Amino acid sequence: MSLIIRQYPCRSDNYGYLVHDPESGDTACVDTPGVQETNDILDVEGWRLTHIFNTHWHDDHAGGNLALKEKWGCKIVGSAIDPERIPGLDVEVGDGDEYTFAGRTVQVFDVSGHTNGHISFYFGSDDALFCGDALFALGCGRLFEGTPSQMWTSLQKLMALPDNTRVYCAHEYTLANAAFALTVEPNNEALQARAREIDALRAQQKPTVPSTIGEEKATNPFLRPMSQDLQMAIDKVDAPLDEVFAETRRRKDNF
Ligand code: ZN
Ligand code: FE
Repeated sequence: MSLIIRQYPCRSDNYGYLVHDPESGDTACVDTPGVQETNDILDVEGWRLTHIFNTHWHDDHAGGNLALKEKWGCKIVGSAIDPERIPGLDVEVGDGDEYTFAGRTVQVFDVSGHTNGHISFYFGSDDALFCGDALFALGCGRLFEGTPSQMWTSLQKLMALPDNTRVYCAHEYTLANAAFALTVEPNNEALQARAREIDALRAQQKPTVPSTIGEEKATNPFLRPMSQDLQMAIDKVDAPLDEVFAETRRRKDNF
């Protein structure tokens, strides 16, 4: 039986996620942007929170850890690099680790760049990736603590996942990301089509998340430093890919 994934808005533009296994009853939330929102869904569904998976230490991701742990006695899984910044951390994991949740293997990838110790959780049995603020629909996280090369290395790990992997990122930033993406790859037809879909979804206040790894590889400029058109648009023809990535990120920061 598949895991049930519930996606819900928190704060101004965060998404919270609950992952529930109907067989065992095990229920995890990925990050803790909204304590009240999370508890409301748990109450309505009659689920008991057993785990918290943290992608990184920022307050809109780990700020609700202690309140939820106090109420539910759940286990908190997060980066071994960051124990002092992740409140209530119980289980330390790192790149390449496998953690068992509800009888399934959850693979951990270190995707540092936005922060040091940012990790992603891949539920291969259910084709689901929870990537926090590393990869966004048509975007990627700002580089607060890492270098562009480090972030490019991180993103390549996510690009290697199957195309049908659903990308559950932590923010609804897609409309603004699409506007930028079109400036650096204006002739990308898949991107043009996706931008139209995004406009339509947001006009109805519908989420644009999740996308898939396949869609991101075809349209997300941060996964496309090899694109000749993109290289030309940012004056980086034939530059090393991490340098193309760095220039793309710099331009987005100034967009
Ligand atoms: Zn963040
Ligand atoms: Fe965030």
